[in-house]
Amino acid sequence: MHISERLRAAEEAGRPSISFEFFPPKTAQGVQNLYDRMDRMHDLGPTFIDVTWGAGGRHSGLTCEMVKVAQSVYGLETCMHLTCTDMEKSKIDDALKEAYNSGCTNILALRGDPPRENEKWVASQGGFQYARDLVKYIRSQYGDHFDIGVAGYSEGCDDNKNTDELIRHLKEKVDAGGTFVITQMFYDTDIFLDWLRKVREAGITVPIIPGIMPIHTYGAFIRRANWTECNVPKAWMEALEPVKNDDAAVRDVGRELIVEMCKRLLAGGINHLHFYTMNLAQATRMVLEDLNLVPDLESPLEKPLPWRPSKGLK
Ligand code: FAD
Repeated sequence: MHISERLRAAEEAGRPSISFEFFPPKTAQGVQNLYDRMDRMHDLGPTFIDVTWGAGGRHSGLTCEMVKVAQSVYGLETCMHLTCTDMEKSKIDDALKEAYNSGCTNILALRGDPPRENEKWVASQGGFQYARDLVKYIRSQYGDHFDIGVAGYSEGCDDNKNTDELIRHLKEKVDAGGTFVITQMFYDTDIFLDWLRKVREAGITVPIIPGIMPIHTYGAFIRRANWTECNVPKAWMEALEPVKNDDAAVRDVGRELIVEMCKRLLAGGINHLHFYTMNLAQATRMVLEDLNLVPDLESPLEKPLPWRPSKGLK
């Protein structure tokens, strides 16, 4: 089923929905551990899960394999990331065919991270230049079979910090056939909500799914903020700095910060939260527990949420 349809159904039912990102592990044991974790995280009731694609098609076979297993063995609605940089077009065709054959109907269409050895990404001869081109290509080959997500950036991406320009390019991706947007992680809710307002003003009406990165350790928190060059609110540093050498305390403080952020997002017009799990379950589960978003078997995700203003938010 298409992700956008599932999101619409959740919104009409007046309940927030969630999803989890996973990446292909490096070892066979890691893959098996991840399948076990995916199976357990099924109980958290994700609307979908997604599996990343290595830049330049690295480990693409494993991404396709994981998509197939998640979709057809674990019954998780699965979205396959697919990039269009620095690799032959045949890899894109093969991946789309495999996704199709696995029953996967959702693709996140991306340009791709620059390969590690190069500073900047360069379009290959005769290849795709932007994610927009990949969206168009998938639509031309598969019509409406795939729901196509695209990436959004509230604070700029690696090669462009001009968020107004990025919103124009986001609109092009949506106009080309993108049906939902997943954003880069961020920690500053004010910046995100301001960006969301501008995105709506630009006429982008598809669901916007904020990417949430739970906090596992202080070192990882700082590394990710530096890597994405996102703003860390002063209050976050003041809360995390004093406990930085105590991993358990960092997790507790980080959990409170992320929970507050999620509550503000849900109150601010967002209906779906996407968790960058880093292939770990615990931090995401703790945040969902505090948000009262872990389904019980009798009434999955139907409990009233006191901090929600109303039903039917965009
Ligand atoms: P685009 O939308 O094509 O934009 C790339 C650049 O081109 C931007 O600077 C944009 O402003 C510019 N641009 C776009 N259109 C035009 C135009 N018409 N004219 C001029 N300039 C234009 N990377 C991976 O390798 N694997 C993954 O699995 C992966 N998953 C991701 C998931 C999410 C949710 C996000 C947010 C990012 C992910 N990335 C992944 C990273 C992503 O590939 C990089 O950030 C990449 O540099 C940009 O990809 P994009 O799809 O946003 O590109």
